Amino acid sequence: MRIYPIVSENWKMDGGVAFGVVPKTIWQKLVEPDENNMIKITTRCLLVVEGDRKILFDTGMGRKQAEKYYSFRYIFGEAGLEKSLQNYGYTKNDITDVVFTHLHDDHCGDAIRINASGKPELTFKNATYYCSASQWEWANNPNKREAGSFFKINFQHLMDSGKLRLIEKEGLFCPNIKLRIMDGHTRGQLIPVITDREKTFVFIADFIPLLANIPIPYIASVDIQPLDAIKGKVSFLEEALEKNYYLIFEHDYYHEVCNLKKTEKGIQPDKIFRLSEI
Ligand SMILES: [Zn+2]
Repeated sequence: MRIYPIVSENWKMDGGVAFGVVPKTIWQKLVEPDENNMIKITTRCLLVVEGDRKILFDTGMGRKQAEKYYSFRYIFGEAGLEKSLQNYGYTKNDITDVVFTHLHDDHCGDAIRINASGKPELTFKNATYYCSASQWEWANNPNKREAGSFFKINFQHLMDSGKLRLIEKEGLFCPNIKLRIMDGHTRGQLIPVITDREKTFVFIADFIPLLANIPIPYIASVDIQPLDAIKGKVSFLEEALEKNYYLIFEHDYYHEVCNLKKTEKGIQPDKIFRLSEI
């Protein structure tokens, strides 16, 4: 098995959104804000090559939205799905499976592009696509708080094309990859747990978006059920510590992977790695 970080874009978001009830006087010591209170964020999708399968987890936001949409995302730098895949010798046509942790715009937006005739088409034409059934239902009937993150143009064509499979419950996705379902950030977020020989990697998506979100109350203000997110985090971190999981961060611009240690202040990051070092 090989696991590669695929950076679709680097962008910025409001630091207060990332840390919820934690005041800026505290969080700014962990992640430096710019003059507009924005912090650097990445969308680090994950490519897992296992036998004949090339499985991509999430796609980033893509470039098909109106200009106004990007005026709030503050994209910077030179990242990009294809460019990042090419770094490891792959093209988008090699991808056999695309698994969405959830259908918020920054996670699934680049799965569909608009072609020269103005019609939607699948970016990964040889892939089968997956998301949880509960997330599909949730995204198609959005509450007012999340409606600004669910765009039908990002996922309707997946269903129309017949290539989308809905995952009803957690369990094995393929040998060595289990999908867990975590509520709290949204409904039915899929969290991949990947076993490579004796090591276990967890792609924790928006469940713990940044390394600085590891302390229990550091829950993003966009989480729809913060108390559920906290409950899930408490039990997950205990498990991750006990089993020495490697946490792979989707949104942390500065940190790719860490493992955990127990301290008198609770469970904290231990060593920080790049995927290529493990
Ligand atoms: Zn999200």
